[in-house]
Amino acid sequence: MFRRVKYKTESDFEKLRKSAQVVAVTLAEVAKYIKPGVPLTYLDQIGEECIRDHKAIPSFKGYDGFPAALCLSVNDVVVHGIPKAGDYLQDGDIISVDCGAILNGFHGDFAYTFAVGEVSEEVRLLMDRTKESLMEAIDVAVAGNTVGDIGHTVESYVGQFNYGVVRELCGHGIGKDMHERPDIPNFGRPGAGDRLHEGMCICIEPMITMGSRKIYMENDGWTIRTQDHKPAAHYEHQLVITDKGTEVISSYKLLAEVIGTEERY
Ligand code: MG
Ligand code: MG
Repeated sequence: MFRRVKYKTESDFEKLRKSAQVVAVTLAEVAKYIKPGVPLTYLDQIGEECIRDHKAIPSFKGYDGFPAALCLSVNDVVVHGIPKAGDYLQDGDIISVDCGAILNGFHGDFAYTFAVGEVSEEVRLLMDRTKESLMEAIDVAVAGNTVGDIGHTVESYVGQFNYGVVRELCGHGIGKDMHERPDIPNFGRPGAGDRLHEGMCICIEPMITMGSRKIYMENDGWTIRTQDHKPAAHYEHQLVITDKGTEVISSYKLLAEVIGTEERY
């Protein structure tokens, strides 16, 4: 069915900023516990408690039956990993923590891939370059450009390293619903696809693989893995396009204080 873009007002933007702030605080809280030996279910519990402490609702929990507050995707899991009893972090893993929260009826949704202990140089590069592809994409996410400009930017940036771009999943508009129009693929042609306009709120989320871009879904109906079981990285930021320009309302600054990185947003 055709879905129309739901344009936001300045008062909607203000609510979206607050929802994004809950996610920023939650990712920082979860970051404190990311170390070898920690059970994934414990990270999920920390995340859910933090969201609820801020009077928000974990939007992933119960979404089409998803059983947890966080998507925790380790190594060859690209996205939508379910924290399961008995699964825990090991030195050298990477984990994408994707968090969603609803506050005052509006959604926050963004993600960061963390290193667990010491990761190999090639995995570190995959993470850094995936994050950089998101930064490059944000630079072109301005009114008048198209979703094709965003996708092309991600694809061409990571393409120089021969990484794979997952095509089956994409970024999205966001607001009162977690997934609104437009879809924001991580590949595309410049100038193609839906045009970005003032009043939009969007999530850009490159999902980049070290090997082949081919993926499969596990029997749990959620977990997305690479077919070759090489690792994947995933970063997501949330942006609003206002009359003053594009503003990144998600933030890695709080989690950066925990893990000691420098983050542009
Ligand atoms: Mg998203
Ligand atoms: Mg997300």
